[in-house]
Amino acid sequence: MGLLSLGTPLSWDEAKPLADLIRERGIDQLLKIWEKAKNKERDILLWGDEIEYLVVSYDEDVKDALLSLRQAEILKDLAHDEELRKAGGCVPSLQEINPKAGQRVPTFHAEYGRFMLEATPGAPYGGTLKDLLTVEPDMRKRRVIAKQHMAKNETPITMTSFPRLGVPGIFTNPYYPPHGPIARSIFVPDEIINPHIRFPTLTANIRSRRGSKVCINMPVYYDEKTPRPFHDPTVLYDLSDYPEDDDVRKGAAKEGHVYMDAMGFGMGSCCLQITFQTKNIGEARTLYDQLCPLGPIMLALSAASPIFKGYLTDVDCRWNVISRAVDDRTDEERGLKPLKDNKYVIPKSRYDSVSTYISQDPAFRSEYNDVDVHQNLVLKQKLLDGGMDELLARHFAHLFIRDPLVIFSESVKNFNIGQNDNFENIQSTNWQHMRFKPPPSAEDAIGWRVEFRSMEVQLTDFENAAFSIFIVLLTRTILSYGLNFYIPISKVNENMETAHLRNSVLSERFYFRKQVFPPRHSNRSSKGTVSPNSGQSIPNTPKVLELGPVDEEYCLMTIDEIMNGQPIPDGFPGLISLIESYLNSVNVDVETRCELARYLDLIRKRSKGTWETAATWIRNFVRNHPKYEKNSQVNSQVNYDLIKAAETLGNGNGKGTELWKGLFEQR
Ligand code: ADP
Ligand code: MG
Ligand code: MG
Ligand code: MG
Ligand code: MG
Ligand code: MG
Repeated sequence: MGLLSLGTPLSWDEAKPLADLIRERGIDQLLKIWEKAKNKERDILLWGDEIEYLVVSYDEDVKDALLSLRQAEILKDLAHDEELRKAGGCVPSLQEINPKAGQRVPTFHAEYGRFMLEATPGAPYGGTLKDLLTVEPDMRKRRVIAKQHMAKNETPITMTSFPRLGVPGIFTNPYYPPHGPIARSIFVPDEIINPHIRFPTLTANIRSRRGSKVCINMPVYYDEKTPRPFHDPTVLYDLSDYPEDDDVRKGAAKEGHVYMDAMGFGMGSCCLQITFQTKNIGEARTLYDQLCPLGPIMLALSAASPIFKGYLTDVDCRWNVISRAVDDRTDEERGLKPLKDNKYVIPKSRYDSVSTYISQDPAFRSEYNDVDVHQNLVLKQKLLDGGMDELLARHFAHLFIRDPLVIFSESVKNFNIGQNDNFENIQSTNWQHMRFKPPPSAEDAIGWRVEFRSMEVQLTDFENAAFSIFIVLLTRTILSYGLNFYIPISKVNENMETAHLRNSVLSERFYFRKQVFPPRHSNRSSKGTVSPNSGQSIPNTPKVLELGPVDEEYCLMTIDEIMNGQPIPDGFPGLISLIESYLNSVNVDVETRCELARYLDLIRKRSKGTWETAATWIRNFVRNHPKYEKNSQVNSQVNYDLIKAAETLGNGNGKGTELWKGLFEQR
């Protein structure tokens, strides 16, 4: 999480009347930054990943795997690690793997779940291809260092969602009973929330603003012995401690679904995010738009979370769980009651797919912004008056329809237009699948950045590195060839839903653009007309810009087709060929090229189905476990073995074993 202001947080009732003030100040801060930084030019690419970990605590006496709630102690220990600071964070064995690995001190951060850690490379990676080879060693180093600061029975794992979060009984160490005053959840205790005051306040204020608990229903995966119809048996209908206990009596839990009722079910899951700095604001806007259609594709390809609250579900991804877990919209805003106290009916949660493109590229057509978005028109006018263009003003005016959820009284008293706290208050609680990050302040050395946010964290650092490197290479390829991936944003939104379906990576088709090359007369880079395979001119490159109907620009493709291509000469060449073509066009030594090929190969094989997604691997692991009762339920014995297996894979020890085969060996 970016911003952890300290101070006295306001309850929702206290915060509500200040919402307009915070928004207005936020826009003032943004305008100041934009004014100063809009002409910033920098030529270096800097980028970095964020990896989130679950901290698991084993109880070997009863063979159970629980969530450890020792985040604060572990982070404290990490911060005080003299050796780490002196030695530049270098672990000797990893120094041998890659001498460069020692040069960055990883940074560890707190996250929403008190059982989570986040680690970043500390200093961002540079723009050379050789630098890409330091990514996997850096990730491995972070895992080793994290483990060194945990208790003997604890371990970090990179699993997107903890299978037994919220089951009846014990799933944390130490145990706390559920149903606390903050989340008021039937299933999870408030003690799973990071105790830093920002997080409980965020949780309580989302619930208060909404007027009920958040409501998450994920379809159950019907197995041989799953009762039909399925009614989630863990839901308690007789509680009467809080008004929110009525939620389930009013039908919050849907038949056929696993029901969840707290922010922790979503924000307690782990992801892999990539942030990169661009040359200037224009390049950032280009990459924001161009990567936007890739969000759902990469979500499907990285799918890693088939289990929620102890049940196999019929989805493979976490995204919609988080979306609903932080959905602060009132009944009016969700269209359930006529508008009275609220301004808009809002179709999406604050955590959802992107609704509006922002680039001024010639390739952009206004028809691509085909989703109507509410905008804060007063603040939009302020941005326009300040000189901002319509597209960018629309983007921010859309983010600024949301209320600030956590306000610290100190920050209300001490307003400073030269800072970004009020801006970030709204910006960082709009969790869309891309984030456009302005420089932190007008004076800052940090430039315009774009964050790619949809991917699920992978069980191994080989995969985490492969996904990160793929995205970075794709950005280079897009910029070098001037590629155009635009499809109407409504189709990106549809793809996001499709991505959730079980095994969507192999069984679904996604909207994707057919012709991605710029027209030949365009004054962009001419390199884009080289065929990846033959070095010849790509036959379907249009000679002139002919704008046909938008609907004819895209079609449905499988992920295999998107990544590995359709038959030449007329078919889509595939993103991997395009990246390879880019690599052929730049100076890269053989060793680097071979190493990069390993990572691209993962993407290739995952797309073809040669290698499994973690979601499929986890689902099959459960279904093939002798202690699984074929009733969709993931009991503690199955969970223990699954977590142990994930740990083994994460530590890289699974290579050559049966485990590794499932994930990585050709079938
Ligand atoms: P947030 O949680 O707000 O998304 P983090 O600070 O956790 O942000 O992670 C940001 C990522 O961006 C890290 O991997 C970091 O290495 C990387 N990063 C930091 N500074 C820059 C920069 N100037 N340009 C690009 N990436 C950066
Ligand atoms: Mg994070
Ligand atoms: Mg972060
Ligand atoms: Mg963050
Ligand atoms: Mg981030
Ligand atoms: Mg949605």
